[in-house]
Amino acid sequence: MLTELTAGRFTLRGASLGGMYTSLHVPELDACFDVGVAVRSAAAVERLFLSHAHVDHVGALATLLGMRGLSGVKAPLKIHLPEGVEGTLAESLRVLSGLHRWPLTFEAIPMRPGDEVRLRGKRFVRAFKTYHPVPSLGYAVFERVSKLKPEHADLPGARIGELRRSGADIFDVVERPLLAYATDTLPEVLHHEPWLGDVSTLILECTFLDERKTIHAARAGCHIHLDELLSHHAMLRNDRVVLMHFSQIYKPGEVRAILDQRLPSTLRDRVIPFLPATDDQWWN
Ligand SMILES: [Zn+2]
Ligand SMILES: [Zn+2]
Repeated sequence: MLTELTAGRFTLRGASLGGMYTSLHVPELDACFDVGVAVRSAAAVERLFLSHAHVDHVGALATLLGMRGLSGVKAPLKIHLPEGVEGTLAESLRVLSGLHRWPLTFEAIPMRPGDEVRLRGKRFVRAFKTYHPVPSLGYAVFERVSKLKPEHADLPGARIGELRRSGADIFDVVERPLLAYATDTLPEVLHHEPWLGDVSTLILECTFLDERKTIHAARAGCHIHLDELLSHHAMLRNDRVVLMHFSQIYKPGEVRAILDQRLPSTLRDRVIPFLPATDDQWWN
């Protein structure tokens, strides 16, 4: 049932089918993005980043928390979510805890666009605005790295070492965007957040792919149609673009064939569709 692939430095493990379920466990970040299905390997993660509270993205949260309890994890799951959703989420889990007769504990951390959360090491996550009819967010993972200031670029290594030891201010701190997750959203997110084109691994929804759904209909549901993505393709300078959240009207083999046919080769080489390997795994 689960799909697992490697995108740059990250493993993406989970499932994504538009309107049905989307969950991506990223072990290297000790985090899961959305929980439309409960991925067992994600039961002990430190953090869950919720894009929005449509049930295909949040519906399996109680199952994930139940798995967590069974796995003996004591620390409550930290759930980052769009501000305003936390009250209803807490209420729904309170009711489900009553049914389950076991506390489904968690820590909600409401976020607004621009809010940041520190991960381990030099990494952090920054939320950004997405375009959907309910409160929604995208999330981007950055790494802060020290870079020699341009005026010192020609210094020999030994001299740099000396200056570093003396505490001289010879480095700039730069943010390197490693990964971003943007679903469910209109393609306007690419205009409003043009830096998304420079993220090493961009995970982006592309719910509809051909004339079986019009752009108008895709936009009415606040989703991306491949026709619109194609008109933005020059903005996608990423090393890898993971497309996901495809509608169930397309079988995995069809998705691959449509992408092969419609994407320019310079982009197709960098696009990884997040899909089961074969069509018979599709409905599972
Ligand atoms: Zn969705
Ligand atoms: Zn949605």
